[in-house]
Amino acid sequence: MKTQVLPVNEESLRLAKRIILGGGVVGMPTETVYGLGANAFDTQAVESVFKIKGRPNDNPLIVHVHKDYDITELVSEVPDYAVALAKAFLPGPLTMVYNSKNLVSPAVSCGLSTLAVRIPSHEGAQAFLKCIGLPIAAPSANVSKHVSPTSAEHVRRDLDGKIELILDGGKCSGGIESTVLDCTGEVPVILRSGLITREMIAAVAGECLEYTYKEGARALSPGMKYKHYSPNCRTMLFCYADRRAALSAYNAEREKGVKAYMLCDGRTAAELGVENVLSLGETEAQAAEKLYSALREGEECAELIIAVAPEKQDGVMVGVMNRLKKACS
Ligand code: AMP
Ligand code: MG
Repeated sequence: MKTQVLPVNEESLRLAKRIILGGGVVGMPTETVYGLGANAFDTQAVESVFKIKGRPNDNPLIVHVHKDYDITELVSEVPDYAVALAKAFLPGPLTMVYNSKNLVSPAVSCGLSTLAVRIPSHEGAQAFLKCIGLPIAAPSANVSKHVSPTSAEHVRRDLDGKIELILDGGKCSGGIESTVLDCTGEVPVILRSGLITREMIAAVAGECLEYTYKEGARALSPGMKYKHYSPNCRTMLFCYADRRAALSAYNAEREKGVKAYMLCDGRTAAELGVENVLSLGETEAQAAEKLYSALREGEECAELIIAVAPEKQDGVMVGVMNRLKKACS
C-alpha cells in the first residue's frame, strides 16, 4: 500500500472521508499528538487500528468528535462538574471518560462499560471531524510502545505502507497526549496526566483526584499497565539533583566511544557544558512540546540518551515526567 502524506484541504478531506467510510484508517493531526483514526461504529475498522499499531487488545481507544457534536448521543450521566470542565477546556487536550450508551463498536472500549471522549482543538482535526460527521476512534499514530508522533513525518516513519493517508497538519503544539479524566464518579479523577493539569481541573471542579497505578493492581485505565514511548536506543534517567552524576556518565560513555546525548532543558545543558544536547527548551510548555520529537531525534543520532529530569515537578511537568519515566525505564 502506498502511503500519501497530504496537507489538510478540501481534496485530501474528500479522500479521507472516502477511506473512513470504506472502513479504512487515516493518520490525523491533533494539538497533542497525531492520531490513527477509524469510524467508531465500524468494528472491523476499529480492530484494524489495533492490528496496524500492534496495540494490545485490552487497551481502549479515545473517541474524537467535532466541537458541535452532542456527546450525550454516545454517553450518559454527564455530571455538572463535567459540564463546567467542558465549558472551560474544550475543545482542547482533555479526554473525559463517561458511562457509555454502547452505541459505538464494543471494540473501541475493549468491552469496558465506559467511553473516553475528546474534542480536539486543532483546526485540521476539527475540519476532518466535521467533514466525516462521525465519531472517530483514534489512538496515537505510532507503532505500539514506540514514541508518540508529533509530526506527519513521525507517523510516516512508523506506518509507511500500512495506511493509505496521513493528513499533515504541521507539528503538534501540545506535544504530550491528552489528560484522561474519569468523570463517572462524584469527583473527577485523573487517569493520565497531561497539559490540562490537576490544579486547572480543581480550580473549575472544586476538587480533583489523581490515580496512581501500582504494578499488579487493577488498572483503572488499561493504558497504565503498558510500557510506552520508548526510543529505539539505550536510555538512562537522572533526577535533577543528580545532574552532575548524569554529566559523569555522559563523559564516561563518550570516552568509551559511545554516541551519548543528553536530553535536558537548555539551562541545564548550558550549566553542564555538554556538546550533544537534545533540548527540552526553556519553559514547561516547551518541555511538553519538544519531548517526543527530542526522543525521536535522539534515536536517529544517539546510541545512548541520558535524560536529566526537569527541576520543576508540578503542573504540566507531572505529565512530562510520567512520559520521561516510561521512555527511560
Ligand atoms: P492513546 O490514544 O494511545 O493515547 O491511548 C488512550 C488512553 O486512554 C489509554 O491510556 C487508555 O487506557 C485510555 N482510555 C481509553 N478509553 C478509556 C476508558 N473507557 N476508561 C479508561 N481509560 C481509557
Ligand atoms: Mg498511545
